[in-house]
Amino acid sequence: MPGLDEKLHDIYDEVVRRNAGEAEFHQAAREVLTSLGPVVAKHPEYADAAVIRRLCEPERQIIFRVPWVDDAGTVQVNRGFRVEFNSALGPYKGGLRFHPSVYLGIIKFLGFEQIFKNALTGLPIGGGKGGSDFDPKGRSDGEIMRFCQSFMTELYRHIGEHTDVPAGDIGVGGREIGFLFGQYKRITNRYESGVLTGKGLAWGGSQVRTEATGYGTVFFVEEILKTRDDSFDGKQVVVSGSGNVAIYAIEKVQQLGGTVIACSDSGGYVVDEKGVDLDLLKDLKEVRRGRISEYVEARGDSARYVEGGSVWDVPCDIALPCATQNELNGTDAATLVRNGCGIVAEGANMPCTPEAVQLMAEAGVAFAPGKAANAGGVATSALEMQQNASRDSWAFDHTEQRLAAIMRGIHDRCVETADEYGSPGDYLAGANIAGFVQVADAMLALGVI
Ligand code: NDP
Repeated sequence: MPGLDEKLHDIYDEVVRRNAGEAEFHQAAREVLTSLGPVVAKHPEYADAAVIRRLCEPERQIIFRVPWVDDAGTVQVNRGFRVEFNSALGPYKGGLRFHPSVYLGIIKFLGFEQIFKNALTGLPIGGGKGGSDFDPKGRSDGEIMRFCQSFMTELYRHIGEHTDVPAGDIGVGGREIGFLFGQYKRITNRYESGVLTGKGLAWGGSQVRTEATGYGTVFFVEEILKTRDDSFDGKQVVVSGSGNVAIYAIEKVQQLGGTVIACSDSGGYVVDEKGVDLDLLKDLKEVRRGRISEYVEARGDSARYVEGGSVWDVPCDIALPCATQNELNGTDAATLVRNGCGIVAEGANMPCTPEAVQLMAEAGVAFAPGKAANAGGVATSALEMQQNASRDSWAFDHTEQRLAAIMRGIHDRCVETADEYGSPGDYLAGANIAGFVQVADAMLALGVI
């Protein structure tokens, strides 16, 4: 990764010093700062108003206790987080993650990324993120409900449709959003649909929200392919993960004529040369909440399961990391390059390590960073907020067309901005700079707050 100029280096050092031990946040901050050299050179007013230093400090960080009782009657204690990072463009917006690895550094990295991602959508939303170190795996519906109710009993006082609007992320899907919304409604005695997104279709949700992140990532790749007069037709694709983002990325790739030959979960990966059977995968993951290893038992001979290992060992034309942060490292990137992979697009947040990103850049692989490629989820959340505000609900096709247009817009903005700042073809620089400039201009206009 190229070095930072002196002023930006000082800011990075300050981030590391003030946020000790938060490695993922340092990584996300460094990745953005690395792109900003040409911007601060062109716009000294940003430095004068300490815009970057203010951007690196969350507006508000909330940490709270989440006590709940499990099915055995034992009291459990988890920790809840909400980091309200930046509201220059609109109410804080970003998901909730329930995963045992969650701590403040993970939430801050995700919240920081969210600022620029949300700006790129062109919609009026600020950046935030939250979650808990609660592990939903193996928990009953009753336990999930009691945890969500306890979590919301504290969170409700910090959120609102004009303040902060959470959504789902790892471990938080439609079921959890339902329990969270129910408790919010009960405590406040208000049917405030716009306070959470990712809701069910019967109670204020939007068509396409479930599909949006995965579909959006694939729409973004389709735009990259178009710049090369190419399409998904006949392409071999590998997707990591088998959660919400992965499943709907697979669905859209298949609709556009590509073949997804491998996917994974945290236990291992499956290779299915005939193409992943999506009905089977959805039943396994969305209904039975099973492990990816069970896919092979149901699918028979065409598929094989590899425990542990790296899904990136499977040769492909296009790779879509859709599981979690830092899941694709330098070794994986070298393997992808060696196997002729030409495009890597991040469905997940920061799944590629800095080493992997550099290696891909050197090899000429088109790399679409998460803040651009997976922005379709939050963009459709903003469309859900629009529908809630106008007490309306739009048809699937209309909403999907809006999503596709937003993804085309983000793609084109990345390309144009990269050109303007002297890094043609560099989607990472384009995304970081375009997102930053939009937020920075709003921060300048709003004064030192
Ligand atoms: P889900 O919980 O639905 O799925 C996550 C998937 O990733 C599961 O298959 C899970 O496997 C796998 N996974 C999680 N942690 C690890 C790990 N440490 N190693 C390997 N695999 C792992 O989450 P989502 O699909 O919603 O989110 C996936 C990524 O996309 C995250 O980075 C999230 O921040 C990002 N994202 C999500 C958006 C959304 O709308 N949902 C929007 C934008 C970005 P297992 O079940 O074994 O844990």
